[in-house]
Amino acid sequence: MGGIPGAREELDRLGRALRTQLVELIDDLTPGGDLRLLFLDEPKIVDWHEPLRYEYSSSFSGKRPAHIGAADIVSRAAALLGSAGWEVATSQEEAGGRPRTVVTGRRDGCGIEVRAVDHMSTVWFSGQTPAMALYEPEEFQWPEPVRTAETITSGYVLCYECDGLGWCPGCGGRGWAHDEARGRKNCSACHRDRVCLICRGAAQLAISQLSPYQRGYYPELG
Ligand SMILES: [Zn+2]
Ligand SMILES: [Zn+2]
Repeated sequence: MGGIPGAREELDRLGRALRTQLVELIDDLTPGGDLRLLFLDEPKIVDWHEPLRYEYSSSFSGKRPAHIGAADIVSRAAALLGSAGWEVATSQEEAGGRPRTVVTGRRDGCGIEVRAVDHMSTVWFSGQTPAMALYEPEEFQWPEPVRTAETITSGYVLCYECDGLGWCPGCGGRGWAHDEARGRKNCSACHRDRVCLICRGAAQLAISQLSPYQRGYYPELG
């Protein structure tokens, strides 16, 4: 796949900046949390339409100190994000029938959310970079057949299902097909096996082992 110049570097830079900001918030608002649990190592595919889009994302939960209330956490989070150049908004949502306050920050297409409630000491942090295309979409190259009339083994016939392709004739060995809603769906012919279900990839079948039904595909065998 052809990488889009500079795209991975830019996404990595945003991922590092996001991590730095999350660490600063967690250290300040819920000190003592185990930051090894803040995973932001590899971008994940979040949109399977071509070109595939990748983002870094992570979530973390910490405990606010006993003497600091949820309202203080929320205003402190908003102040920290605001002073670091994030566009900040505060809103209420409902979680399990109780109100929960959410602070949202946006910067460079990245998002951070901090959630706090009165009745629990848990503070939830989450963040994500924008979803970015890293590779140019590439035209799929249908594979070369594994066997042809020229390369078939003596005593064999080309598989009637794939005609010598060996790979699943439904998807050409990719294991998936395009799907308008989700981008990709599992191939309905091979269910991600990728190879032809009749010859299991051999592309040819031994004449001596053909069932009477299978021989019906080869009238020339008599
Ligand atoms: Zn086959
Ligand atoms: Zn298939």
